[in-house]
Amino acid sequence: MPQCKFFRECRSNAVIQIPHTKMALCKDHFLRYIENRVKKNIEDNHLIDFQNPKEKVLVAISGGKDSQTLLTILHKALQGRVALEALYIEVGITPRNYSYDSAIIARSLCEKLGVPFHILNVKEHLGFTIDDIHQLGTYIKKGKRNRKRNNYRGECSYCGLLKRYYINYFAVKHNFTKVATGHNLTDEASQLLSNFFSIDIELMSRAGPITLRDVEGLIPRIKPLYYIYETELIMYAYFAKVEHLPTECEYATDSPVISVKKSLEKIESFRRGSMMNMVRDFQKNLKPILAETITEDHQIVKKCSQCGMTTYLDMCSFCTTTNRLKEQMKQFHILEE
Ligand code: SF4
Ligand SMILES: [Zn+2]
Ligand SMILES: [Zn+2]
Repeated sequence: MPQCKFFRECRSNAVIQIPHTKMALCKDHFLRYIENRVKKNIEDNHLIDFQNPKEKVLVAISGGKDSQTLLTILHKALQGRVALEALYIEVGITPRNYSYDSAIIARSLCEKLGVPFHILNVKEHLGFTIDDIHQLGTYIKKGKRNRKRNNYRGECSYCGLLKRYYINYFAVKHNFTKVATGHNLTDEASQLLSNFFSIDIELMSRAGPITLRDVEGLIPRIKPLYYIYETELIMYAYFAKVEHLPTECEYATDSPVISVKKSLEKIESFRRGSMMNMVRDFQKNLKPILAETITEDHQIVKKCSQCGMTTYLDMCSFCTTTNRLKEQMKQFHILEE
C-alpha cells in the first residue's frame, strides 16, 4: 500500500484505496473522510435543521451494517446539537434467532453511544409476525395455489411495508421531525435504475437524500449515507469496529433490484465513479424536470378511512394489505377467527 495522501500530517501508510477516486488513506484519515462526506450531505441538502430547537431525529435501526454505521456516524456528526433516538421494529423472525439477535446488537450500540433506544413490537400492534406471513406463503405454495391469484408478494415486500408504516407511526406519535435511514449510494443507484427500467416516473421523481419534505402526517425521510458506496460502508464498519449482525435473514431472496445492483457493481469495476455520477447527475439535472411532470392527482393527501394515517388513497396500502393477509391467515388457520 502507498503512503496516506496526508502523509505529512499522519506519517502513516495507507490501509485503503478509495475505489471510485483511487485516493490512498490511512485508517484515521479514511474514517474522517467518510464522516466529512456524510456531514457535507447533511449540510448541502439541509437534511437536519440545526436552528430548529424542536428538531428531533429518529434513526430506524435494524442491527445490520448500514443502520449501525449510520447511527455511529450521525451520533458523531450531530455532537448532541440535535436530539437523536433510535427505533427497532421487531417484526418477529425466529429462524437463526434473527430478530432476537438483531435487537440485542441494536440496543447494545445505543447503550454504548448513549442514544435512547425504542422497540416497537409488530405482533402487539397487528396480531401477526413475518414468521406468520412466511407460514402463509408456505401453505399457499404447498396447496399449489397460484401465488399471483392470492396476491402473495413474498416476505420482504410485507416486511418493508410493515417497517415503513410503523416507523412513520412511531415518529408521528412521538413528535420526531426527521426519520433517518441507512440507504447508501449503491442501494440508491440500483433502485434508480430499476425504476428507470419500468419507467416509474413518480418513484424516480421522489428519489433523493430527503423525501416527503412537505407532506403533512408523513415525517420527512433523510438518507445521510446517500453518497457513500456500500463498499466504503463495509470498510468503515470494519475500521471503526461497528458491531453489526453478520447473519443473513433466512427469508432474504434475490429481488430484481439485487440483480441490477450486481450489474452496476460490475460496471463500476471498469468505469469507476459510474454510480456516483449517475446519482449526482440525476439529482441535479433530471429530477427537477421529472418532478414537474407529476400531476396534482398524485399529490392529494388524505386520511386513511381505517387507521387515520396519511395516505394518497382512501385506504392506505398498509391497511388494505394487512386486512387481506389477516383474511388469508384465517382461511389457513394461522390466525383465529
Ligand atoms: S430479508 Fe426480507 S424478511 Fe428478512 S428482515 Fe430483510 S426485508 Fe425483512
Ligand atoms: Zn493519514
Ligand atoms: Zn391505514
